[in-house]
Amino acid sequence: MNFINTLEFAQQQDKADSLSAFRNRFFFPELNGKEAIYFCGNSLGLQPKTAAAALEQELNDWAKFAVEGHFHAKNPWFSYEKMFDKPLAKLVGAKPSEVCTFGSLTNNLHLLMVSFYRPTATRFKILCEEKPFASDQYALESQVKFHGFNPNEAIVELKPRAGEYTLRTEDILAKIEELNDELALVMIGGVNYYTGQAFDMKSITEVAHKVGALAGFDLAHAMGNLVMNLHDWNVDFACWCSYKYLNSGPGSVAGIFVHESHGNNANLPRFAGWWGNNPNTRFKMEKGFVPAVGADGWQLSNAPIFSMAVHKAALNIFDEAGIENLRGKSEKLTAYLEFIVEQINSPRSNVQSPKITILTPRDKDQRGCQLSLVFSEDGKQVHEQLLKAGIITDWRNPDVIRLAPVPLYNSFEDVWRFGNELQRILNA
Ligand SMILES: *Cc1c(COP(=O)(O)O)cnc(C)c1O
Repeated sequence: MNFINTLEFAQQQDKADSLSAFRNRFFFPELNGKEAIYFCGNSLGLQPKTAAAALEQELNDWAKFAVEGHFHAKNPWFSYEKMFDKPLAKLVGAKPSEVCTFGSLTNNLHLLMVSFYRPTATRFKILCEEKPFASDQYALESQVKFHGFNPNEAIVELKPRAGEYTLRTEDILAKIEELNDELALVMIGGVNYYTGQAFDMKSITEVAHKVGALAGFDLAHAMGNLVMNLHDWNVDFACWCSYKYLNSGPGSVAGIFVHESHGNNANLPRFAGWWGNNPNTRFKMEKGFVPAVGADGWQLSNAPIFSMAVHKAALNIFDEAGIENLRGKSEKLTAYLEFIVEQINSPRSNVQSPKITILTPRDKDQRGCQLSLVFSEDGKQVHEQLLKAGIITDWRNPDVIRLAPVPLYNSFEDVWRFGNELQRILNA
């Protein structure tokens, strides 16, 4: 594809984009009385315009039915979470019984590690990416300590080669082989939140299994961003949140994947609650936990209906757009952003070091929609200037601006306008 750095070209791309109308399904924040250009869908997705009505439905049913709403609400609360099985299974490439909607990301990561991090005296190591998201770091560290191991010894971090920003798949696989029978678990992000690198979950899982370890993924930045096939890849487990690319609202309900080879194993150790019990005997309130079959067996509590109502509204939009279509647009949109950034860099090619470095892999198969830009100087000021110009990006210390052109609601024009403003800021 030959891109052109003009408003006209960007607008032409939007006209030709069959998904462009989905932009109108979302509320955009305002800056200086004008609709902002929003590139932070990787942090908090925009509000679907259908969210309020979905929420109101549940408020009305609560008013009208009170406790009877568990069975008589329009969407009965007793089995509310089952509505998400099919749409989520499509998003992660799983069987509906392999996914479940409940809890929050870090809570669920702990619950899954209770089942899938079962260290022994000799096989106790966890392999993760360097500096994972803080919450994941704390979860891994505390799990390791809980089992009586030293995090410095038990947690092995993958580091990029000298002079490189991201990990090479071959190096990840080699490390798994090297750790071999000391390795209990590979636990990394589907997409790294900082660099935007997407990992080869299929190969990682394959090699982890070869050495007798399990493979789990934190899909916070992969969900609704990548096309995945967790079932066929034999991934053991995964977890995600719904407020980033899934647009389900701040702190909204999360979800998990457990491969059916584990989900049907009632003997797997786990921390249990009544909602994870076989639904047929859930209300008998009897002694002796009998897990529900599949991922449902990891639930603890009854469903948070209000956040699920918004989640439902948000997932309906994904279902309509189709994750493959979204990914198709996403590859192009991010490539356009990459092209624009390179254009801004090129007049300075006579300068020794480029002003802007793209941390994220250039290979589209190794990234989602996000690009992470490092500015050789004044990055923080650039971020603030962009905000003044009505463009919301994300600043991460020490030196990165993260940009997520989201295919559901960002346009080629958004990307062009960003580039235009950035050029103006750098020239000033
Ligand atoms: C966003 C994010 C989290 C946030 O965890 P919560 O439990 O939802 O607060 C955790 N890990 C990663 C990798 C994330 O990107």
